[in-house]
Amino acid sequence: MKSKIYILIGPPGAGKGTQAKNIASNKDFVLISTGDLLRDNVGRKTELGVIAKSYMDKGELVPTELVTKMIKANIKQNIGKNGFLFDGFPRDLSQNSLLDEMLKEFDLEVDRIIYIDVKNETIYERLTNRRICPKCKDVYHMKYNPPKKDELCDNCGEQLITRDDDKLDVIKKRLDVYHNSTQPLVDYFEKMGKITKINGEKAPKEVEAEIISNI
Ligand code: ADP
Ligand code: ADP
Ligand code: ZN
Repeated sequence: MKSKIYILIGPPGAGKGTQAKNIASNKDFVLISTGDLLRDNVGRKTELGVIAKSYMDKGELVPTELVTKMIKANIKQNIGKNGFLFDGFPRDLSQNSLLDEMLKEFDLEVDRIIYIDVKNETIYERLTNRRICPKCKDVYHMKYNPPKKDELCDNCGEQLITRDDDKLDVIKKRLDVYHNSTQPLVDYFEKMGKITKINGEKAPKEVEAEIISNI
């Protein structure tokens, strides 16, 4: 059977990362999160990581050819699996064309795009209080989803960190990039009738149930 392809899209802080892990495991999909993959490279100081960091710290998009190369390697490794869930990719119209091309090579196509919608105020409140686990990638919020013990990961015990790009000026820049580059892609998906809009303001469990019922 053909692998299913789903894309999670939405502004920074919409809750994509929070939802992605659970949905992928619920549906037995391979999760491909470009943000996590890039941060991993930054942490390991790979050639890609060193270049990527200079863009990520400013809130700019990492050059498309680098990101697509990384994605392609990941698809190749997992070909034949039940499905793929993309989080953070594609980010603009050109990345979307490249994704379509890549999928075509494997005789695959995108089934549906899940768009998580939240208000601007929500974005700032969520990102300024976000913590992540550098090891297992769990996502926390110091008010809405705090870790049980100090600032340690519930799942693996690692010390949680604040992302380098969750600073007010960088958040602003990321939102600009979202409006200029990603919003046109959302509009395009909408025109194609391939998008399902989810209200991301609800509690995480409710958001999750709504997404799962749409896959
Ligand atoms: P958020 O979930 O807060 O929107 P991500 O973790 O998806 O953030 O992305 C963090 C940063 O990683 C982005 O600001 C960008 O620099 C880089 N990045 C992630 N995905 C892509 C992509 N598909 N293309 C280019 N850059 C990307
Ligand atoms: P994204 O990947 O879209 O940038 P995250 O999943 O990292 O977003 O979530 C951003 C922040 O908001 C995190 O601190 C997370 O714990 C919190 N969060 C995610 N979903 C919700 C929700 N439905 N209600 C309240 N807080 C949430
Ligand atoms: Zn962890």
